[in-house]
Amino acid sequence: MPIYEYVCKKCTKQFEVLKTSSNDNEPVQCPDCESSDEVHKTISSGIFRMSSASASIPCGPAGGCPSNSGFS
Ligand SMILES: [Zn+2]
Repeated sequence: MPIYEYVCKKCTKQFEVLKTSSNDNEPVQCPDCESSDEVHKTISSGIFRMSSASASIPCGPAGGCPSNSGFS
């Protein structure tokens, strides 16, 4: 079951909602101001940012590339 991040534009509260088959069709309600009119789903990009950062580490002296281990 996916967890979605939402932000309430009314009180700027950010919260996560676990979507199940029982509440999937119900409007998401802000836990703080209990409004469902100003709640918007946000794109959680943290996972993508982490994976792209680790993939872009250069293979060099600072990167610890195993091919630079000194066989000559
Ligand atoms: Zn709110």
